[in-house]
Amino acid sequence: MVNLNKSVNLRPLKLDEYIGQEHIKEKLKVFIEASKKRKTSLDHILLSGPPGLGKTTLAQIIANELGVQLKITSGNILDKKGDLAGILTSLEEGDILFIDEIHRLNPSVEETLYSAMEDFQIDIILGKGKSARSIRIELKPFTLIGATTRSGLLTSPLLSRFGIILSFDYYSTKALKEIVKRTLSLMNFRIDDQSAYEIAKRSRGTPRVANKLAKRVLDYIMIKYDGQIDVDKTLQALEFLGIDEYGLNSIDRKYLSILIYQFDCKPVGINTISMAMNENKDTIEEMIEPYLLRIGMIEKTPRGRIPTQKAILHMKKYLK
Ligand code: ADP
Repeated sequence: MVNLNKSVNLRPLKLDEYIGQEHIKEKLKVFIEASKKRKTSLDHILLSGPPGLGKTTLAQIIANELGVQLKITSGNILDKKGDLAGILTSLEEGDILFIDEIHRLNPSVEETLYSAMEDFQIDIILGKGKSARSIRIELKPFTLIGATTRSGLLTSPLLSRFGIILSFDYYSTKALKEIVKRTLSLMNFRIDDQSAYEIAKRSRGTPRVANKLAKRVLDYIMIKYDGQIDVDKTLQALEFLGIDEYGLNSIDRKYLSILIYQFDCKPVGINTISMAMNENKDTIEEMIEPYLLRIGMIEKTPRGRIPTQKAILHMKKYLK
């Protein structure tokens, strides 16, 4: 019996183990080699793309490949200049500072980052009022890796300080299939190609979704059967989980049914949808709509959201 509680690190540690995003890997290999050869710190890198596509994982791989330390923080928790100064001064030469959701930094922290990135120095104010004085602190050369799900919200002074900008694509079903197989094999389970394909197809182009689905399918099969995965059991599990052939879950379908049945396919504004669903506006705009837009289930018009024929046809299957 396999102990599922044993925490397994699913994150790949080497660039070669990182599946997909070939265009990113190709460039990074060159930049990492060059930095090692020149014995200088890697240029600052911006990773941009939707959540769950592997930005944090890639930052860990870069640190691992360079043999340096990685410190991880996030734009929304780094709200004081002093906190940033504390982290920056703790970095050794060549270390990597990873700031997730970097578009959320507050302006004064962001400004401190400019001189840190460009000249490896920061000015901090000591004391208050008349006795206040500014002192300059020299930093050891480091690499900043910023990650963002909303690169459009980055200010141009910050953007211009990144020497390398890498944009993530959604993953192909083929790549996600490999990720599912890898994840299950790390958990000591074998999965056949077809079952892995059925999970991958419903994973919204996103490794985090693929890993989660794979684990839930495994839960179902272990409890209902003997743990041996096959395609029939996988499809049963996916149905049990309420994940349809497009990878939509019950919340996505609730969204579509509101547009189709409650508002008769007429344009609906985000505030109305948010009230009808009893769901936060940001969650709808960031977690639900992007995928529905991408697979052509809804359209955004100046007067509101409307469902497409594809959505209407798909939702008919759920009418009792
Ligand atoms: P992000 O930082 O973009 O939100 P993460 O790096 O946290 O995404 O990745 C989410 C999950 O997906 C992690 O558990 C990681 O193991 C897995 N993952 C992401 N990209 C890959 C990949 N290319 N190959 C294998 N697993 C991946």
